[in-house]
Amino acid sequence: MSGDAPSRRDFLTYSGAAIAGITLGEAGRRWLARADERAAGWRDRGVETWATSVCRECPSGCGLRVRLVDDVPVTIEGNPLCPIARGRLCAKGMATIESYFDPDRLVGPAHRIARGGPPRWEPVPWKDAIALAADRLKRAAGTTDGIVAIAAAERGPEAEAWTRFWRAAGARVAWTPLATADRLRPSLRRLTGADADPIFHVEHATYVLSFGAPLAEDWLSGVWTQRSFGRLRRGSGSSRGRLVHIDGRRSPTARKADEWLAVPPDRQTALAYGIASVLFRENRIDRDRLAPMAGNLATFEHQLVTYYTPDNVAIETGVPVVAILRLARELVATPRPLVIVDASAADGLADAVFSLNALVGAIDRAGGLFGKADDQAPEREDATVVLRAIADGHLRPSVLVFGDSSALRVLGGPNHPEMLAERVPFVISCSPYVDEAAAIADVILPVDLPLESWQAMVPAAALGVDVVPVSKPVIARRLDTRDKGALLHSLGVAVGGAAEQACDWQSSEELVRKELKRLAGLRRGTPYVTMYETEWMQQLESGGWWASAADSDAAFAERVLAAGGWVDPFFDASYLGEALRAGRGLEFPLPEVLAPAQSAARVSGAASPVGAATSADSAFPIALIAFQPSVIAIIGNPNQPSLFELLGQPDSVPWSIWVELGSEEAKRWGISDRSRVRLISAHDSVEAVAVHVDGLPSGMAALSIVPGAQTAGRWSRLIGKDARRLWGTESPVRACAVRITRV
Ligand code: SF4
Repeated sequence: MSGDAPSRRDFLTYSGAAIAGITLGEAGRRWLARADERAAGWRDRGVETWATSVCRECPSGCGLRVRLVDDVPVTIEGNPLCPIARGRLCAKGMATIESYFDPDRLVGPAHRIARGGPPRWEPVPWKDAIALAADRLKRAAGTTDGIVAIAAAERGPEAEAWTRFWRAAGARVAWTPLATADRLRPSLRRLTGADADPIFHVEHATYVLSFGAPLAEDWLSGVWTQRSFGRLRRGSGSSRGRLVHIDGRRSPTARKADEWLAVPPDRQTALAYGIASVLFRENRIDRDRLAPMAGNLATFEHQLVTYYTPDNVAIETGVPVVAILRLARELVATPRPLVIVDASAADGLADAVFSLNALVGAIDRAGGLFGKADDQAPEREDATVVLRAIADGHLRPSVLVFGDSSALRVLGGPNHPEMLAERVPFVISCSPYVDEAAAIADVILPVDLPLESWQAMVPAAALGVDVVPVSKPVIARRLDTRDKGALLHSLGVAVGGAAEQACDWQSSEELVRKELKRLAGLRRGTPYVTMYETEWMQQLESGGWWASAADSDAAFAERVLAAGGWVDPFFDASYLGEALRAGRGLEFPLPEVLAPAQSAARVSGAASPVGAATSADSAFPIALIAFQPSVIAIIGNPNQPSLFELLGQPDSVPWSIWVELGSEEAKRWGISDRSRVRLISAHDSVEAVAVHVDGLPSGMAALSIVPGAQTAGRWSRLIGKDARRLWGTESPVRACAVRITRV
């Protein structure tokens, strides 16, 4: 380091004891500012440049344009050529730049000084950090549960390299399930037999019945969906698409809907099948169309009509019989109905939603449901299940590796990450932030930030066509972090054997250049171009024509890198129909039996599905459901002040978690709007801001979850305790019984 580099004493002064010496700190920021000043001294000041990059704050892969002044990023905006977002970004995309300037970023590799007690690390040179990690990996290879390697469920060359490397190293690889379309693929396969990601054609629907799908927030592919939602509401001609939203809370989507029905997530399956049952009872389905392609139509009908009577469903869900009848009738009275579902919905609910789409004739129809063929999509082990097995002591790996921290942030992940450190002798984190994974790591191998990286990924399916966002570094690496591809290569060399042989790359740049070569060889698609040119290319390809974008592979690669990605706008809109004709046809998954006695008996409990209004335990009379605000970082940096400022929108509860309560009930308890309350469960208690919501049923409340707040830096620590602790070790996917008191 130069003489201006921050001293260890500076770090200790500014960074706090727990992360002393390994984060940038205030002194580090001053040092970087001085370095910028010096760098600007030998060139013209105020030189402005623009570069394209890719947002990696979620798997959608929206394109970025970065404005740099003297090579320092000062503004981020959307890339208008990106076919996913067309120049727009969500709040998380806009906040990307904050990660670059985060004073609590890791400055380089570090290792934990001692286990037990408050976490303390010290900086360590890269070669020592790699040697330490490699030594533990080699020793773990022969043990019973060996190595477990975790990463976010992304696709593309980087994700494939990660899988190849860790499988070769003998690891069990698991992936964080993210709320993307591929998560719904098993349900679509159960119904149609086709291996495809569902594509919901929201913008051309005339009526959308949403089971918890956060259309106006962050559904499947955030910005793309919001654009589709805007077009649905604008409508074509005089018809404005109608939205009926079913949700356990009055979310931003519920507020924007024409109608909101408050039904907890675990009751929504019954409502979906109740609506389907009415369609059969009132003879509102096209049996002539469905019977030849659906072998078990009669059995399905019998099951629904017998058990999902409107009366049973009304008891189960709290939705009046007249409303169930009306929803079914509305669904078939409109030209292009579509039923959509939250990607993290339980399998039963997703099955019910796809079945409804089949019943109303929405498959392969404009404004309906399409399939994007994907035979190659890997089956991926669920990281939340694996981590829970480790936390419970059922799985005992010797080394646990985190590619990122998303598995510790999603609702289904372990509520107490520190238990993993107690169970696993050695934990490796590759995060560039002091986040939940780094907080339990024995060695931290921080990778470059996305703006500093070569990137090529396959985003979550949303728009049906093939897209590969691609970028090279927009800014030079500023801290002692490492390129992810190069990190795997270094580990491979140190571990040796199959792991080394698996690394047929030396850096992420090599992975990206291979991908560019592959794309050039496909002889279809184009580097990102304007909307007009994209549509022109679509017409050409539909007619069997294709125009090459460049004379050579090298020129093609440069065009793709400059534009920010590659797209093939051709889309086969008849894929599902073809698959049904060629395969086994429709097979409706049969719902569970639903009996009124069973419905009436269901009451709340910490580990069981919760009744809408009553609780068996008077000490904890409220059924609390958890949700994650769309502005919290699941992937990436959780320490972003502008996102904390947006918490609670549109009610605005900045810098705090909040609990939504029915207005009438809150008044009865003497809890005023925006007052602080304490939520108490059998396991723990947390403070939150109370927000009154009209229409929320009695006995229910909804709590925002902002995970990882205690570890990720100075701003995130202000949010307070991770509220998942109310659930003990149970998953917050289910409701929890609590009581609420004034503070
Ligand atoms: S939707 Fe995802 S990829 Fe797009 S801007 Fe938002 S966080 Fe970034």
